Amino acid sequence: MSEQGLFGPFGGSYVPEDLQKVLDLLANEFVKAKEDPAFLQEYKDILREFVGRENPLTYAKNLTEKCGGAKIYLKREDLNHTGAHKINNAVGQILLAKRMGAKRVIAETGAGQHGVATATVCAMLGIDCVIYMGKHDISRQALNVFRMELLGATVKSVAAGQGRLKDAVDAALADLIENYQTTFYLLGSAVGPHPFPSMVKFFQSIISEESKQQILEREGKLPTAVVACAGGGSNAIGSFAHYIDEKQVRLIGVEPAEAPTLTKGVPAVIHGFKCLTLLDEDGNPSPTYSIAAGLDYPGIGPEHSYLKETGRAEYVTVSGEEALTAFKLLSETEGIIPALESAHAISYACKLAKELDKQDVIIVNLSGRGDKDVQQVFEMEQSN
Ligand SMILES: *Cc1c(COP(=O)(O)O)cnc(C)c1O
Repeated sequence: MSEQGLFGPFGGSYVPEDLQKVLDLLANEFVKAKEDPAFLQEYKDILREFVGRENPLTYAKNLTEKCGGAKIYLKREDLNHTGAHKINNAVGQILLAKRMGAKRVIAETGAGQHGVATATVCAMLGIDCVIYMGKHDISRQALNVFRMELLGATVKSVAAGQGRLKDAVDAALADLIENYQTTFYLLGSAVGPHPFPSMVKFFQSIISEESKQQILEREGKLPTAVVACAGGGSNAIGSFAHYIDEKQVRLIGVEPAEAPTLTKGVPAVIHGFKCLTLLDEDGNPSPTYSIAAGLDYPGIGPEHSYLKETGRAEYVTVSGEEALTAFKLLSETEGIIPALESAHAISYACKLAKELDKQDVIIVNLSGRGDKDVQQVFEMEQSN
């Protein structure tokens, strides 16, 4: 990565000048913070005492027998406080916000997961929190709105445009430009202009830092493959990070077949950075639909775009229907209800296991728990 946050031709920062100044300040502070032992200690302490890390690497014995072939291990991000990996990044960025003297943290949210993780950490660290959410999404996600409010956050409804995630991003950016001296913008995935992709990777790399040590203790060797679902790409890049230089370890990102950014995308600039992107005939980001809200994004982190182009990582697709089958399979065989996002990774891991040997080891990143999806799956079953 160069100083401008380039990953080969991807990444960078394509934003208006006033926003660029804010990002430069942030990039400078991040470089200092990640070299500061006191900052890193506080980050690790909160991960231990509040998030519940380190979380286990669970051998999925029954799933392994059912799929047949390689041994499948699950990295249990679902056991984190608030039920997914997103809180790792929220802790890191909010500590950075405090270090920079910010009085308030703002974020946007679509389905509400990132908003809840942000509001949670803001409550614990005692900092004001404003979450922008499209009007349309607010009406669909009433319970998450209530959760954020319980946690003391202000949820601002955005009626502009279609009242969806993109409009919430625009509103949050306008707030940041106006209030940058007091305000920190917390981005939830490994996307956006520099330094966000590098920062989010840094705070999510704890996943592979732990899993590498855990698998070496357990199996005495590195895994054959690491498998993770990829929406914006933060849980995937975090679970790949410490294996990228271990060339014998296969890194596999699983995208929804309904939003196959890396499989079918072309290089383009969206939301202030360059990545492989799904475009429609007019060259605009395509509308996508995945049964897993967290995977529903027409772009992907710049480093994934680069890992794909260089061949270091592989990217495959799994359909919503296959994910649903895996959702039930993991629940029945292991007593773990996965998030629908994570179920995409489970589905592919089971396919891959069959192609590999009994001596091979697969680590699947279980990015989150499925409690948030039970109602949706229930309704899908009822309408069948
Ligand atoms: C948000 C979310 C994702 C997708 O985000 P990434 O940045 O691609 O990791 C995946 N799984 C869960 C459980 C999520 O909440």
